[in-house]
Amino acid sequence: KISIVSILVAYLAFKWTAPRFDPESLKGARVLVTGASTGIGEQMAYHYARFGAQIVITARREKVLQQVTEKCLSLGAQKALYIAADMASESDPDKVVDFALEKLGGLDYLVLNHIGPTPFAMWEGDMEHTRWLMKVNFFSYIQMAWRALPSLEQSKGSLVVVSSLLAKMTNPFTLPYSSTKFALNGFFGSLHHELAIKKSNVSISICTLGLIDTESAMDKVRGVTKIPAYPATEAALNIIIAGATRQLDLYYPWFTQVVHIMKELFPWATNYVIQNYSYNYNP
Ligand code: NDP
Repeated sequence: KISIVSILVAYLAFKWTAPRFDPESLKGARVLVTGASTGIGEQMAYHYARFGAQIVITARREKVLQQVTEKCLSLGAQKALYIAADMASESDPDKVVDFALEKLGGLDYLVLNHIGPTPFAMWEGDMEHTRWLMKVNFFSYIQMAWRALPSLEQSKGSLVVVSSLLAKMTNPFTLPYSSTKFALNGFFGSLHHELAIKKSNVSISICTLGLIDTESAMDKVRGVTKIPAYPATEAALNIIIAGATRQLDLYYPWFTQVVHIMKELFPWATNYVIQNYSYNYNP
């Protein structure tokens, strides 16, 4: 008979035997981080720099990228380079990967993190914005992953995809954003199976984040929700560790996994809480 205790013991045994993070493994690692001019991506660039990695960062704003690379070098990055790119463009995702491959001589980590700005509001039928967001948040991710796969295969590398609890459970006010994140989880979860079937060397980590205290997120939810926000620097470190230890799933903060399980077990109750207690809605 399967009891709660046996499930707990199996879970703890799994956690116990999970690979430990070795910071030395990141020394000299060749890393490309997207969306690294601000927020979690910027914090990831600084952590990789402290670990002595070789980093290429990208986003649209060249001036800000330049400042971030300068700080990365001062923190200990072996190399820090930037390339400005717009992920809504059809050619820029390939251009960025090619730049990183050329400058670093290959890739060990591709960290896909960028998102386009999107309103926090009820869906009013804005198709143009939704199509654009799909390009930035989804199509560019799969394009870059495909371009980088041969190099990651050679280096026994890792693909890290920054996703959200909103890719696991539906919520109001973020319909286009949430759709792009569901698409990412569907694509990269399926790709994980295909890589396993092909006995590929490449690992995939899909990172499920709760609310994180980045400026862009806080600007949207201030006064609208009481959901606690967690520090971007800690989220960034957890994502890096998930990639380095080749974990398929990361949940940060930890209780996002509990929230997800609750939603699966008690969908009616969870929906009731989402619709009645999670947000202040004042049209
Ligand atoms: P930010 O809004 O702080 O940063 C977004 C980054 O993407 C910036 O570097 C921005 O730079 C870049 N970017 C925006 N548009 C484009 C574009 N068209 N082309 C290229 N780059 C672009 O995001 P966060 O740090 O808050 O989020 C990072 C990741 O974490 C995202 O994947 C997000 O979904 C996920 N996440 C965040 C949560 C949170 O509460 N913060 C919660 C759950 C998940 P620039 O403007 O210079 O282009």
